[in-house]
Amino acid sequence: MKLIFEKDKYGRTAFSLPKLDVPETKIELEEELLRKEDPGLPQVHELEIVRHYNELERKNHSVDSGFYPLGSCTMKYNPMLNEEMAGMFNNIHPYLDEEHIQGALELMYNLQKHLGEITGMDAITLQPAAGAHGELTGMLIVRKYIEDNGYTNKTKVILPDSAHGTNPASAKMAGFDVLEVKSGPDGRVDLEEFKKVMDDSVAAIMLTNPNTLGLFEKDILEIAKLAHEHHALLYYDGANLNAIMGKVRPGDMGFDIVHLNLHKTFSTPHGMGGPGSGPVGVKEKLKNYLPKPIVDINEDGKYFFNYDIPKSCGRLRTFYGNFGVMVRAYTYILMMGKEGLKFASEMAVLNANYLRKKLEKDFKIAFDDVCKHEFVIDGTFLKEYGVKTLDFAKRLLDYGIHPPTIYFPLIVHEAMMIEPTETESKEELDHFVEVMYKILEEAKTDPEILKEAPYNTPVRRLNETVANKQLKLRG
Ligand SMILES: *Cc1c(COP(=O)(O)O)cnc(C)c1O
Repeated sequence: MKLIFEKDKYGRTAFSLPKLDVPETKIELEEELLRKEDPGLPQVHELEIVRHYNELERKNHSVDSGFYPLGSCTMKYNPMLNEEMAGMFNNIHPYLDEEHIQGALELMYNLQKHLGEITGMDAITLQPAAGAHGELTGMLIVRKYIEDNGYTNKTKVILPDSAHGTNPASAKMAGFDVLEVKSGPDGRVDLEEFKKVMDDSVAAIMLTNPNTLGLFEKDILEIAKLAHEHHALLYYDGANLNAIMGKVRPGDMGFDIVHLNLHKTFSTPHGMGGPGSGPVGVKEKLKNYLPKPIVDINEDGKYFFNYDIPKSCGRLRTFYGNFGVMVRAYTYILMMGKEGLKFASEMAVLNANYLRKKLEKDFKIAFDDVCKHEFVIDGTFLKEYGVKTLDFAKRLLDYGIHPPTIYFPLIVHEAMMIEPTETESKEELDHFVEVMYKILEEAKTDPEILKEAPYNTPVRRLNETVANKQLKLRG
């Protein structure tokens, strides 16, 4: 495929403007500000540009084009209605006066309330722009909490060895020492190990429940009790809430802070660094440390940006967060309703367990147990046939399926982490199972096929190390 720059023909344009019907004004710019050379923008016709970007789009895999069981990432179908709703707000500007954007403020206010209800938290900020950003916000709130209470000896954050990589990074960025606890033989936090490291120097414990193996931390109430006895805070990584929405709330499990990824559970398309939203919720005692402003309502029923948060951990982002993502989440929540959200969780868990049961015969499931929204295959058995999880994943592409998350969580060797989500049909799940067994058969009889895969994709197998170390984004 040619680059758009290679399609350039002098004089072609893809737009037309109406004739100027107002007096022309010229802004005099200083000489040094003037461009010396032509910017070299490609000159193409409208049809050429439309075809160019459509061709690019068709080369991509997306949830709208096929199965995408990316564990931990919740690649669910995102209803088109959400896009339409987000589009309705396209022409409001963040500098508009509050009185002119009451509708947008009301939406944000209501979304704060809904997310508070879903998570069991008392106050929510919509400011953070991603999950990791929410984690950093949470950790800065922990900092404020320990400063404000004079807990100067609190320097550590505990997390399990199955934690998402962003957790230790966020704790470290907020200035904490990270302490890892090993998982027990059942893939959950080992309570005895936890007790050994829990003392007054611990500021917070970061957990995901269900954890990244898709398993529910059954000792959570005991963990919360121990943490609170030592005045430590419990942080919930709620990037993926798909297994528990409407069923159980982090706030009721004893968590003090939680972040959500609206671009996972609450149905905004994501990936490739697109706009996200990582709201953070806190219990009453931490309300005064939230970033400012939050959206509030006054006695006259007018919505406003409340900057009166004297102990705030600061401002985390320009303006008020990624508003379009909030509109999508709000639409999704209203459309689903309380029962709908609950049902989505139930279906997500059912689908994951269906796949797990179908695959467990010949694929080794790590910590095989009833799972929540996802489960992990231990791919070390593939070595017997001379192939790796990576080869297996690449071969899936040839069958039009996006590979699951691989090599995560780190505690499972050759991991393949599968999350089908609630939006896939039984037929689609059965097709996936069929393809998995077909590739396994190929691995047994002709492993070279897997090692050279993929064959049908726009680009064949990449050298991922070079691609990582010598990033080259231009042709
Ligand atoms: C995706 C994810 C994150 C990070 O979210 P980003 O929006 O990518 O920063 C954190 N924790 C878990 C468990 C996740 O799945």
